[in-house]
Amino acid sequence: MRVGIVGGGQLGQMLALAAIPLGHDVLVLSDDPGGPASHIAHAIFGKYGDEKILAEFTAKIDVATCEFEHVPQEALQFIETRSPLRPGLRSMAIASDRWLEKEHFRSLGIPTSLFQKVDSVAELKAAIKHLGLPILLKTRRFGYDGKGQRLVRNEKEIEAAFFALGGEPLIAEQFVAFERELSMIGVRTMGGAIFTYPMVQNLHHEGILFCTIAPAPEVPTHIELEVREALCTLLESLDHVGVLTLELFQTKEGWLANEIAPRVHNSGHFSIEGATISQFEAHIRAITGDPLSQPMLRGVSVMVNLIGAVPPREDILAIDGVHLHLYGKSPRPGRKLGHVTICGESWEELLPRLEKLIALVESTQQITALTPPPSQPPFGGEG
Ligand code: AMP
Repeated sequence: MRVGIVGGGQLGQMLALAAIPLGHDVLVLSDDPGGPASHIAHAIFGKYGDEKILAEFTAKIDVATCEFEHVPQEALQFIETRSPLRPGLRSMAIASDRWLEKEHFRSLGIPTSLFQKVDSVAELKAAIKHLGLPILLKTRRFGYDGKGQRLVRNEKEIEAAFFALGGEPLIAEQFVAFERELSMIGVRTMGGAIFTYPMVQNLHHEGILFCTIAPAPEVPTHIELEVREALCTLLESLDHVGVLTLELFQTKEGWLANEIAPRVHNSGHFSIEGATISQFEAHIRAITGDPLSQPMLRGVSVMVNLIGAVPPREDILAIDGVHLHLYGKSPRPGRKLGHVTICGESWEELLPRLEKLIALVESTQQITALTPPPSQPPFGGEG
C-alpha cells in the first residue's frame, strides 16, 4: 500500500520507519523540506491548505494519516473526499480543541478537572468564581509542550494572563494538585478490535516530556482498569482507527483525564524496543487493515528525550544496551532532537545504566526542575 503521512516531523519519520519493512510505500506531505520524515521517505512539500498540493498527495496514496492533530480542518475535509483518512475527521476535530475534548470526556462520564470555555475577561472572571483559584488558562487550539498556557494564581493576574494568550478562544481549567502524570496508548482496528499498552509514567521538564517509565510503577489496579475502560470508550465513541493516547493525572482521590492525542505519542516511543509491537507498527497495521495482535512489554523500559542539545553520540552508545534515535534536526532550545531508550529485565538491572544516561543528558541539558529527580527513581522494587 502507499501510506500518506501528513506532517514531516519525527513522528512521521518513525511511522515511515515502521511502515517500510511491512512492505508499504510512504509518501509524506510536509511544509518543512528539512523535516525528519522527508529524509527517509518520498515527500511532497507545500502548505497544508493548498488544494493543488492536497490533490497531488491524495492521488498518489491508498490511505492517509496525520502525525499531528492541528492539520487545518479544510485540508482534512479535502483529503477525506479523495482518500480514506484514518483516524477520521471526528477524532481529529475533537482532539485538536481542548474544550471539545473536555466536553467529550464529560459526555462519556470520564473524570476530568472542572473547566469552562472563556472568550473574554468577563467570562474569565465568571469562570474563576465558579472554579476557584488557581486556574490554568489554556488556548483551545495549537497548544503543545506546555505552550499556550498561563497559570492564574490571584485576581491581579487575570487580565495579564488573558491578554498574554492573544485573544484566542480559551479554556479555564481548575488546577490539579496531581501526584504524577500518566498516559495510556490504545489502538483500534478497522474491524473494531482494541488493544491497549500498559500505563506509563511521564516526567516533564519545563512543560516538555523528559522521561517515560514503562510500565508505570505501582499503579493501583482499579486505576489501570478504569483508565483502560475510558480509553476503550473513547476509541469506540470516535469510531477511531489507529492509535489514540490518553494523558491523565493520578491524584490522591483517583485520576483525571487531561487530554487525548489522536496519534502516536512521545510517551510511546519506548515501545519500539520495549514492546513486541511498537505504537508505530500498531498504527500502520490498524490503518492499512492488516491483522493486529496484543502488544506485550519486553521487560521494563525508560525513554529519555534529548531536548535542545545532544550529548556526544559515542558517550551515549558506550552505555550498555541503549537504543539511540536521532531525528536529524538542528539544535534549538526546547526542541526535541532525539530520544534514548533503555530496556531491562528489572528496575534493579536497568537503574545503573539509566543513572549514567541521565548524568550524560544533564551535563548537556541543564535539567533542574524535574520532579521527582531521576536519580531518585519514583519506583521501588521489581517491575
Ligand atoms: P497540556 O498541554 O494540557 O498537556 O499541559 C502541559 C502540562 O501542564 C501537563 O503535562 C501538566 O504538567 C500541566 N497541566 C496541564 N493541565 C493542568 C491542570 N489542569 N492542572 C495542573 N497542571 C496541569
